[in-house]
Amino acid sequence: MRYARTHMTRVLFYLLLAVAVVLSSVAPGAPVSAASPITLDSFAQVAFPTSITFTVKAQSDSAIVSLRLHYIVERENFATVVSEVWAQFQPGKSVDTQWLWDVRKGGPPPGGRIEYWWIAENASGTRSETSHLKVSFEDSRYKWQSITNGVVNLLWYKGDRSFADSLMAAAQQGLQRLNTDTGAAPQRQVRIYIYGSAQDMQGALQFPQEWTGGVAFSEFDIILIGVSPDILDWGKRAVAHELTHWITGQLTFNNYGAGLPVWLEEGLATYGEGPITSQYQDLLAAAIRDNKLISVRTLSSPFSADSQTALLSYAESHSIVALLIQTYGRDKMAKLLDVFHQGSDYDDALKQVYGFDQDGLDTRWRQSIGVKIAQAAVQELMLAALSV
Ligand SMILES: [Zn+2]
Repeated sequence: MRYARTHMTRVLFYLLLAVAVVLSSVAPGAPVSAASPITLDSFAQVAFPTSITFTVKAQSDSAIVSLRLHYIVERENFATVVSEVWAQFQPGKSVDTQWLWDVRKGGPPPGGRIEYWWIAENASGTRSETSHLKVSFEDSRYKWQSITNGVVNLLWYKGDRSFADSLMAAAQQGLQRLNTDTGAAPQRQVRIYIYGSAQDMQGALQFPQEWTGGVAFSEFDIILIGVSPDILDWGKRAVAHELTHWITGQLTFNNYGAGLPVWLEEGLATYGEGPITSQYQDLLAAAIRDNKLISVRTLSSPFSADSQTALLSYAESHSIVALLIQTYGRDKMAKLLDVFHQGSDYDDALKQVYGFDQDGLDTRWRQSIGVKIAQAAVQELMLAALSV
């Protein structure tokens, strides 16, 4: 039996060979395209932080008439967005062309990854595609070292290993604290680039703000922080702060472009850093004393560019979120984030979960920190208490 099967296979093989020979012998009438394959070669070069140049070389017996670059910037998205670029070149049998992407006009963040491929066509109608390659928009101005623990990959170039280990420990603690306070757990891996100073980091950003010490690109799973080894304690808080932004970004990402009120976004991030700082406590005390507190509703919009007002805004946001977590619990906070994930108006989301809107929250919060509140607000609180 065994022999017979082998024999059959061999017969089939010769039969197929015969068919192939017959087909190739009628070649004169066959399309030219089969005889005009396209050879393609491509690569990409990063000029950080300004551009990425994609180069392609194409050769064929028939003139190359079309070269299109396709690329995808890796990011959290509901639909994959493929960009297409038609390269400019003189048609010919041997073409060498490139396309320069000026990433200063809406490119990937530092560390962002791009998948790309080229599609070529020649005059005889042959279409050929390169394999899909990847290029990382890495900040090659520095020599990065890397450590990984769980979902966190931490990269740094200034300071020794113990400096990096301390920041990694702060990252792990931050994740743990966030999980305890809000139930949030990361779904993906994150890369944290630790720059040696705020100045170094700002050199990597297109639109740096004066007071930016860290930034989280949540959809790209990338965090940048500028921290020199001599301000380690600040660095630990910054790592926890930006990680919180990253995770809340993941939890509340939606298709409607609706975000969180800034007091919630920054309140969670500062709360995630750990106990309130004495600086925040002093700012709060002074604002209460001078009757200069900013309302919850005002804090739902981006904070003031003035650094002192911005600091008070962070201190208040911490205090507001602390009230929500400590008085109403982790499950309600988790629910609030989920309502925002579905896409919701700020006041509606609060009412749905807590039964009061931003003004109601403002009243409760002021009362919780010992601020005398207006008579109308007292009545509102009493009515709310009666109706519960
Ligand atoms: Zn922040």
